[in-house]
Formats: sequence, structure tokens, C-alpha cells
Amino acid sequence: PETLVDDIANIVREVFPKNIQFQLRLAEGARPLLGDSTQLHQVLLNLCVNARDAMPGGGTLTLSVENADIDEYHAATQPDAVAGRYVVLTVADTGCGIPATLRERIYDPFFTTKEQGKGTGLGLATTLSIVRSHGGFISLTSQEGAGTTFRVYVPVSDVIR
Ligand code: ADP
Ligand code: MG
Repeated sequence: PETLVDDIANIVREVFPKNIQFQLRLAEGARPLLGDSTQLHQVLLNLCVNARDAMPGGGTLTLSVENADIDEYHAATQPDAVAGRYVVLTVADTGCGIPATLRERIYDPFFTTKEQGKGTGLGLATTLSIVRSHGGFISLTSQEGAGTTFRVYVPVSDVIR
């Protein structure tokens, strides 16, 4: 995934406010990311922009790439998860968090908590539809006042190494 992730890393480093610390963590041996690179770029950018918006007073944005193999047992314990081999793209922030009451709605088109003109509410709807069209899924952990972590699971093929 070098170029796609590097592109995003450069955007974040150059364009995002300087009070946001950026950390890039590429796991050794991370599998190649398969898919539409324009669409996956959009996915990562949407998640990073949301992370930025969640930290108006600054904080840390961490982008990680690693492998994950999910077996049937773990797939059954996680909503949306499907057993398989994946590359996982993680975007974590130390921002405001997402209240539990809103978590169901954040993927709805036009759902936004941002003031008029600041958000379209389409970022996560688009993100989810791209990830699903790649055969993947998204997991979310968030704590109000502490931060949010989005994990995007993109399947890898057994045929292509
Ligand atoms: P927009 O960014 O235009 O508001 P999105 O679909 O990208 O639309 O996100 C929808 C809503 O989900 C946001 O308005 C915000 O309330 C919430 N959200 C998304 N990502 C985060 C995050 N990292 N931290 C806190 N809230 C978030
Ligand atoms: Mg957004």
C-alpha cells in the first residue's frame, strides 16, 4: 500500500493544523492492498478529515497498516465481521469521541453534527459503501472525550500475493 498510504500521510503532514501530531505505523510484512486506489484514497481521506475535525484543540492522529486474519469464531463475536484474510487500515484520533447514542446514525447519508457548511454528512456513507464494494467491513471503537478508532478491513486474495 506504500503509495496510497504515503499520499495520505503527506496530505495530513502538509495540510492539517500543526497542533495535530501525526503517526504512521506500517507493520512489517503488511500485505499489498488490493482495490480501487482512488476509492481507497477517498476512504482514508474521509476518515482522516473526520479525525482532524474531532480534534479542534489538537491531538494525535495515527494511521496504521497491518495484516489481520479473522477466523469464524472471532467473526461471530464482532458485528459486521466476516472470516477471512485482511489488510487493516486504522485511523485513530484522540478527539471528542462519538456518543453511543449517535453511533447507529453516523453512516447515514447526510447525517452530520457539524455546523452548516462544515460537513456534508456524506463522508462515512461513501466510505462504508466503498469498503463494502471491496468485500470489506469497518469496525469502530470510540470513547467520549478520549477518542475514536476506525478500522477498515480490506480482504486480500489468496491467489495474488
Ligand atoms: P461529516 O464529516 O460531513 O459530518 P461524515 O459522514 O464524515 O460526515 O461523519 C458523520 C458524523 O460522524 C460527523 O458529523 C461526526 O458527528 C461523526 N464522526 C465521524 N468521525 C468522527 C470522529 N473521528 N470523531 C468524532 N465524531 C466523528
Ligand atoms: Mg466527514
